[in-house]
Amino acid sequence: MNNPLTTVLSGMPERVDIYEVGPRDGLQNESTVLGVEQKAEFIRRLVAAGLETVELTSFVPASWVPQLSDAEELVARLGSLPGRHPVLVPNERGLERALAAGVKEIAVFASATESFAQRNLNRSVAESLRAFRPVVERALGAGLAVRGYVSMCFGDPWEGAVAPAQVSAVASELAEMGCGEISLGDTIGVATPGQVVEVLDTLVAAGLETEWLAVHFHDTYGQALANTMTALQCGVTTVDSSAGGLGGCPYAASATGNLATEDLVWQLHGMGITTGVDLEALCRTSLWMAGLLGRPSPSRTVNALASSFD
Ligand code: MG
Repeated sequence: MNNPLTTVLSGMPERVDIYEVGPRDGLQNESTVLGVEQKAEFIRRLVAAGLETVELTSFVPASWVPQLSDAEELVARLGSLPGRHPVLVPNERGLERALAAGVKEIAVFASATESFAQRNLNRSVAESLRAFRPVVERALGAGLAVRGYVSMCFGDPWEGAVAPAQVSAVASELAEMGCGEISLGDTIGVATPGQVVEVLDTLVAAGLETEWLAVHFHDTYGQALANTMTALQCGVTTVDSSAGGLGGCPYAASATGNLATEDLVWQLHGMGITTGVDLEALCRTSLWMAGLLGRPSPSRTVNALASSFD
């Protein structure tokens, strides 16, 4: 059986937009550094498998993320592809590089907590938002779309619990700046469904519409799909995931793997929800990528289907 049987579940959206993060969030967390043509081929295969939104890379300094130090070359090599292809931009210098490369959409990365903002961005939450404002304004002025990520929305390794009001304040400021989509990240994968409802309810009460929101769950404690289901029931229709569950080694103590796109697609198609994705083509891509990385995909669906592809 290469596809799930379908039984429609009421209360669910008819369509979910998958925001594929494998080439950026996935590969930046893999210890193996791929060549630029391997990355380009990966992205072409993801697009050919029906993924309409694929985040390509990050215009961070090469010293920060050596895995993605070929951003310009990758974007140039890909040329024009159908769909949305955002790139991560950490600051004005990154935006200049992205504009020069001709990208149409960027993403900026904020934090809901002070501890992560200090460690990851070397600034307070307020300082980092102030620094993003001119970047977002300039991007919008140049006709680009802007996505805002908020990390540590459901728990923080240094602070523990995160107040939903903190998430709401950061998300609201990003929306007010002009970010057309806000992705709520469970960066350490600790969320459970009740919390998802609580955070989303808080954001909606603050005036953020669910159609502007995306969810970004990690499967560290096996909760990513349950949390996704809950978010869909709350009205969210954009879900971040990573082909083959790329990002974070499942054998390391610090594993914080992304939700695997294949596992998400199996669940969505099983509920009769349209994604546009060809599950077999996507699984074949992840098996090929697992070969390049020299380790099996952590996706249950990739592994369950692999034997039927011979
Ligand atoms: Mg992630």
